Amino acid sequence: MAATAATFPSHVPVLIVGGGFAGLTAALCLQQQGIGYLLIERHPGTSLLPKSRSLDLRSMEILRELGLSAAIREAGRALALAWGVLRGPNLAHTLATQPPANAERVTHPSQLAMFERLAAQSPESGARCTQDLAEPVLRQAAEARGGDLRFSHELTQFAQDADHVTATVRNRDTGTEHTLTADYLLATDGANSPTRRALHATTSGRGSLGHYLNVYFEADLTAHVRGHEFSMFLVQEPDVTGFLLAINNTDRWSLHLRYHPEQSQQPADFTDLVLQSLLRRVLGLPELPLRILSVLPWEMSARTVEQEQFGRVFLAGDAAHTMTPYAGKGAATGMQDVHNLAWKLAAVLRGQASPALLVTYSPERQPIGAFFAHLSGDMADTQGLLSPAKLKEHGLPLMGLPDYTYRSAAILTADDQLTTPASALPLVGQLGTRLPHLWLDDAHDTSTLDWCRGSFLLVASGEAALWQARLSDVALDCSLVLHELPTPARRQAWQQLTHTQPGDALLVRPDGFVAARLPATSTAADLAAKVQQVLTLA
Ligand SMILES: Cc1cc2nc3c(=O)[nH]c(=O)nc-3n(C[C@H](O)[C@H](O)[C@H](O)COP(=O)(O)OP(=O)(O)OC[C@H]3O[C@@H](n4cnc5c(N)ncnc54)[C@H](O)[C@@H]3O)c2cc1C
Repeated sequence: MAATAATFPSHVPVLIVGGGFAGLTAALCLQQQGIGYLLIERHPGTSLLPKSRSLDLRSMEILRELGLSAAIREAGRALALAWGVLRGPNLAHTLATQPPANAERVTHPSQLAMFERLAAQSPESGARCTQDLAEPVLRQAAEARGGDLRFSHELTQFAQDADHVTATVRNRDTGTEHTLTADYLLATDGANSPTRRALHATTSGRGSLGHYLNVYFEADLTAHVRGHEFSMFLVQEPDVTGFLLAINNTDRWSLHLRYHPEQSQQPADFTDLVLQSLLRRVLGLPELPLRILSVLPWEMSARTVEQEQFGRVFLAGDAAHTMTPYAGKGAATGMQDVHNLAWKLAAVLRGQASPALLVTYSPERQPIGAFFAHLSGDMADTQGLLSPAKLKEHGLPLMGLPDYTYRSAAILTADDQLTTPASALPLVGQLGTRLPHLWLDDAHDTSTLDWCRGSFLLVASGEAALWQARLSDVALDCSLVLHELPTPARRQAWQQLTHTQPGDALLVRPDGFVAARLPATSTAADLAAKVQQVLTLA
């Protein structure tokens, strides 16, 4: 249970600044590790706007590990049919004259035949769930699991020295200020990250792609849309440029309307009356009753910081990389950032790893953020609108299979028997890649990925008893759980998949990435040395 204002902590192991997807996921991952934290969020609650509408495959794997993937799917069930891009002079005309965008009744693009091979590589698929529905699921879970989350609290300043970070936090309801220290500060404070600015972190990338007003509104379009459900409608006419996002394909919609500060246009120019008229113009339904629910100006951009660690301060999520919405990767990449960092912070805070382990965060995650920021920028045309041709071109990486390879001191290379392709597809246990997925049962309920619960894993390709004996011969500081596939047939399938011999083993980090491939001839001392190396103690 969250402490009361009277018991505001004077010290926390980790201070998380920002309660969006990245901050809330960080809270859950630290909780899984048993590490104390304080999460502060300047707003009184989670996002009221739908913004992000889908979570990719890897995000769903992380949520599965945290026991929340089913809850997220359930929260977003009614939104499933949002798929397909339309373009035209107005929506009503386009729906009446163009074939249905989602004739195949796809509920997630990963179901398309072209992505079939993805299904074999993960127990999960991407899911539709808007931000306003997903964030409360994460928040409630973090609170129910005993986290200290304070909404209406903002970081006003911070400083760091060799031992800790000192932060000033203001309660926005009462104006009360608190000073506390933290071993580490995790800045998940969004695209305009005050922390990033205070650190003078340099960014690179395509930069600004235009200013938009996110107009979230209610209008019953059921009669027009039924059987013609879609995801996005692009409009680029002399009097209006923007994109309409289907939230539930019935009565909830977001129009992202381009405006031009360089021509002296300001958000305040767009009064309710002006917006209502523009909405009816875009919908092509001049008499339609509608209600504007909220309006939020935002800048579309693609930028990445060059460094994600500044001493005891880490940047993650939009604070580290901004993206256009077209790749659907902003929330996903942020969640994966903090999943990478949480176990490292935990190992260092528990004294099991050297602080050098934290130095591996930026080299492992910054290139992934930069890749998706660049790709999302590439998907925008010169007007900042989605290029449907680019959507097709980049289809596969957008699905979210973690087909990337980490390279850092926390991945060992000495026993690498495989050449690592530029893209790690398919995932077969290469060093620096996510543990391969294989079903453990005929019902396809349990996957090898379900072994990932925040501890080191040793996955034996058979001969588990030998590995058990080696484990009992060494004293490891960290918890390491031994697994092997349950039947001879599955063990054989695992050996084929991972290119291992009977008795070999994969050493897997707590984030599910393969750190070392151990031959059957390894000794207990070899195993202990590998774990020490991953923890950057050797
Ligand atoms: C139209 C649109 C569609 C999108 N679609 C997708 C999609 O389909 N899939 C996807 O993965 N992503 C999508 N995104 C991107 C996604 O919404 C963002 O990348 C994601 O929400 C960022 O999460 P975050 O936690 O990093 O930052 P945020 O959600 O911005 O959270 C940062 C939080 O920090 C708080 N904060 C800031 N300063 C302080 C302070 N000093 N003290 C305390 N709190 C502070 C803010 O109030 C904010 O709540 C979309 C974005 C848009 C605009």
